[in-house]
Amino acid sequence: MRLETLAIHAGGEADAATGALTPPIHLATTFRHGPAAERVAGYEYQREGDPTNDRLRAAIAALEGAETALTFASGMAAIAALLESLPAGARILVPDDCYTGLRILAAEFLPGRGIEVVTVDMTDLTAVRNACNGGIALIWAETPSNPLLAVSDIAALAAIAREHDALLVCDNTFASPVLQQPLALGADVVMHSTTKYFGGHSDVLGGALAFARAGTDTLFERVAHRLHITGATLAPFSAWLTLRGCRSLPARMTMHCANARRVAEFLSAQPQVERVHYPGLDTHPGHAVAARQMRDFGGMLSIELRGGRDTALGLAGAVRLFTNATSLGGCESLIEHRASVEGERPVSPPGLLRLSVGLEHIEDLIDDLRQGLTGT
Ligand code: PLP
Repeated sequence: MRLETLAIHAGGEADAATGALTPPIHLATTFRHGPAAERVAGYEYQREGDPTNDRLRAAIAALEGAETALTFASGMAAIAALLESLPAGARILVPDDCYTGLRILAAEFLPGRGIEVVTVDMTDLTAVRNACNGGIALIWAETPSNPLLAVSDIAALAAIAREHDALLVCDNTFASPVLQQPLALGADVVMHSTTKYFGGHSDVLGGALAFARAGTDTLFERVAHRLHITGATLAPFSAWLTLRGCRSLPARMTMHCANARRVAEFLSAQPQVERVHYPGLDTHPGHAVAARQMRDFGGMLSIELRGGRDTALGLAGAVRLFTNATSLGGCESLIEHRASVEGERPVSPPGLLRLSVGLEHIEDLIDDLRQGLTGT
C-alpha cells in the first residue's frame, strides 16, 4: 500500500466489539487478568501499553517502514529515553544545528550519565568521519535541522555509522514520513516530535521512535523497558488525537510544502531579507541532497533580516496573520524570534526568524509578510 493509503488505514481497524469506524479511546489504567493471572488481551497496566497507543504505534511504524514503534509523552521524552538507554562510556555525535532541547540535554544531562557528546557539522561528511575516529556508538542526524534547515545526507551518514558499528538515528520531525523515510536510506531509528506535523493542529504533545528492527536484546527492547519503568507514556487521548492527525498528514504536507516554497521565493526577493534558509531553493547548500532524499522540501523555513534582532522582532510584531509563537506543524502559520526562546545561552543568529508556514491561502500569507515588511 502507498503512503497516502497507509496514513488513513494503518492502526484504523474498526472496533471489534461495536463496529465503530473511529477507534475507541481506552482510558483504562488497568486490565483484567485471566484465571492464571495471564493478560487477557495483551494488556496489564497503561504505563506498559494500551490499545489506543498500540494503534498509533502501528500507524507510525507503517508510515516510516519500521518493524515497530514506541510513543512517548513528548518528543523530548522520546529523545531522552533513547539516549539514556545507551551504556555509560558511549560516545555520540550530535549536529551543531539541532533542536535546542537536544542541545541542552547533551550539554547538561548526558555527560553526568557517562555519555560523551561530540558536536559536529552533520552536513560535512569529512568532519563526521574524523569525529568518528576513536570509536562512536551513535550518530544523531536532524534533517532538515531546526532552526537553520541544514540538510545532512542520510544515506552517507548511514554508511559511516555502519563502518563504525554505530547506530544512525534521524529526527524526522521537520520532514515527516511523507517527505522523507530515513529507515529506507539506512538509518536504524527515526525520531519524531509528534507534537508537530503528526498532530497537525497545535493541540497535542507527543513523541515517537520508529525502529528498523525489533528483535530480542536490542536497543528497541532496552528503550521500551526504560519507557515502561520511567513512565513518560503518551496518554490515550493524546494517542487518539495524534492518530487522527495521521489521516490527513499527506494532504497537509502537500499544501505546507507548496505554501512554504512560495513564501521562501517571496522573501528571497525582499531587500530587507539578507538570507532565506529553505532547502527547496536551489541556492540552499543542501538543495541537491534534499532533492535526492526528500519528496518535497517541507513547510519550515528561517530568514535572517538585515538589521539584526530589532528588525526581526519588528517583523514578528508587525505581521497579523502569522502568529508570533513557538512550535510548528499546525494548520496556522507561526513566526518566532528563535534566539528569544533558546534559554539562557541562545545560539541562533539574533536576526533570525523561524516560520512554520501553515495552510492559509498563500496570497493572504504573502500579503501579510509584505505589509509586515513595508507597512503597506
Ligand atoms: N525535535 C525537533 C526537530 C523539534 O522541533 C522539537 C520541538 O520543537 C523536538 C524534537 C522536541 O519535541 P517536543 O516539543 O514534542 O518535546
